[in-house]
Amino acid sequence: MKTLFENALLQLKRAVAVQSFDPAFIVRLSFPHREIRGHIPLLRDDGTLQMVEYYRVQHNNWRGPYKGGIRFHEQTDIEEVKALAFWMTLKCAVADLPMGGGKGGATINPKEFSSGELERLSRAWMRALVDVVGPDKDVPAPDVNTTPQIMAWMADEYATITGDRSGAVITGKPVEHGGSLGRDRATARGGFEVFEALRESLELPQRCRLVIQGFGNAGEHAAEFFFHAGHQIVGVSDSKGAVVNPDGFDIAALSAHKHQTGSVAGFAGGKDFVGSILEVENEVLVPAALENQITKENVSRLKTKIILELANGPTTPEADDELFVAGVPVIPDILANSGGVTVSAYEWEQNKKGEHWSEADVVEKLKKTIQIQAQAIFERSQILKTDLRRAAFVIALERLEQASPF
Ligand code: GLU
Repeated sequence: MKTLFENALLQLKRAVAVQSFDPAFIVRLSFPHREIRGHIPLLRDDGTLQMVEYYRVQHNNWRGPYKGGIRFHEQTDIEEVKALAFWMTLKCAVADLPMGGGKGGATINPKEFSSGELERLSRAWMRALVDVVGPDKDVPAPDVNTTPQIMAWMADEYATITGDRSGAVITGKPVEHGGSLGRDRATARGGFEVFEALRESLELPQRCRLVIQGFGNAGEHAAEFFFHAGHQIVGVSDSKGAVVNPDGFDIAALSAHKHQTGSVAGFAGGKDFVGSILEVENEVLVPAALENQITKENVSRLKTKIILELANGPTTPEADDELFVAGVPVIPDILANSGGVTVSAYEWEQNKKGEHWSEADVVEKLKKTIQIQAQAIFERSQILKTDLRRAAFVIALERLEQASPF
């Protein structure tokens, strides 16, 4: 099996096959600037010591400070973080933000940690990296399993050590601790706006059936946006189970069930589903969980018209090739989930300037930029007669090449 980073480089290779770039520029982009890993000694509540492996990969900063989230997950490793950092470089260029790409993580299952343990770990993570992050160096943010509260602990640790209380070192903070209005729903909102911007071009009906894999920050809020716009959510899964309803769920009731029980499974407004939720019939398939979900093994069993990637890296390059031949468009992660980092960049800008923008302003600005980038990528895919991922890569690479100091 290829590593996630090898898959990311295969995507790069697919893109430069449709439009050529200076090979030396492509080689430089194929290596991260810096990879940091180490171990945090964490004192557990029961008095035992756990050595937690942590990471920060700074992939590229030609366009601005490294930018990207921190993932707390038991399967996270350096190869995954490297790939995610690479995608952040591309994503920030697609969104035309003045930021580069980075990613961080720690190999733990946070669900097994108390709040006190998580606070100690989060503060230690920031202490370990305090010299290499900063508002003009590297600006982390949330990712899988990391919350606004975790960002607040990290921001406070940074402020305690450096004296910089602007908050601009990290984004996705709670609003009362310098976070931006609209950041919590920004990934989902961005995904919805991309879909709206491309719906007619992709010849989709006004009312679509959606299947959403993952009911975390991205998946749950996406379900709300699509539901309120009149679409039907007919299948949802999370790490504990899955549920379907061919007539569509009542999303507020499903969310309430998830928050009460910890899973979508067992929801009375649908039927528990055993098997792969990805294979349930729909018009819009939304992977919103982890990477490597749509592969050459299951791609032929999908029953969908388009894929909207709210997760990072859910589709392998082999599956991409088959989907392209089959005429199933994939709205790629670096566009589809770019709303999160876009509002993160707004948060960073507000913190740096000491400003507070209204939610309406944030939403309007996000919507405009998403529409512009989505349209540009769609048009480029038509011109190059290629898929949306290759078109998005080509546009990002052009912007990165302009910023390249070489
Ligand atoms: N973790 C999110 C992503 O993968 C957001 C990153 C950020 O806000 O910096 O895009």
